[in-house]
Amino acid sequence: MIFDTHAHYDDRAFDDDREDLLSSMKQNGIGTIVDASSSLSSLESILELIREYPFVYGAVGIHPDNYEEVTPQVLDQIRLLAGLNKVVAIGEIGLDYYWHKEKAEHLAQQEAFRAQMDIAADRRMPFMIHSREAAEDTLRIVREYMDKGMRTGVMHCFSYSWEIAQQYLEMGLYLGIGGVVTYKNARKLKEVVEKAPLDQLVLETDCPYLAPVPYRGTRNSSLNLPYVVREIAALKQTTEEEVISVTERSARRLFGL
Ligand SMILES: [Zn+2]
Repeated sequence: MIFDTHAHYDDRAFDDDREDLLSSMKQNGIGTIVDASSSLSSLESILELIREYPFVYGAVGIHPDNYEEVTPQVLDQIRLLAGLNKVVAIGEIGLDYYWHKEKAEHLAQQEAFRAQMDIAADRRMPFMIHSREAAEDTLRIVREYMDKGMRTGVMHCFSYSWEIAQQYLEMGLYLGIGGVVTYKNARKLKEVVEKAPLDQLVLETDCPYLAPVPYRGTRNSSLNLPYVVREIAALKQTTEEEVISVTERSARRLFGL
């Protein structure tokens, strides 16, 4: 069954029908979901989700856009939550220079990123990384941690070139592929998917964002993943069943499930 490695069902966009939607996953071929926290408030709300739904797991961390929320107290909280049974990764963490252009902001983001990578390293947990317009700094920091013996992680919503993808793949990391791969103008990402080993790709929605074609621009959910599967199968010249089973196996390996 399909494994969605990155969703935000705690988002307000799902307030009206969260329960109906999540209850319909199994019958629509969606077997497992990892819900990623991104802010202080979502650290709390994903806990409710993982308690309520046996097939939903959690990732705990603060998104680089919210780096100012990363205080020593919040780091303690993340460390504590990371010990829970159904928390399977530290994320989403990373760097985002698209919305933050100042050097001082970049340095503060790097500090928040490293503090959370330290937790992943201490707990020997996989990390889940968001990186936008910060290719060099992200690669440098991830490599540092991998060299120090970090186990593995996923580059969520991978958006860089094949040259950069190769370096992550060589380190044994996974690339999260979602709705963007179905967009006509996503040449770089299509090239990455064509060239990367299928067993280092994992499926993700980043819902409510990034719905695939033909639903681009509407609220996304895991139910749209078959469109992503179809596109990956076409690019890799394989079957949709193969894409679903290989990515599911990889996601289980990634999160140690
Ligand atoms: Zn996300």
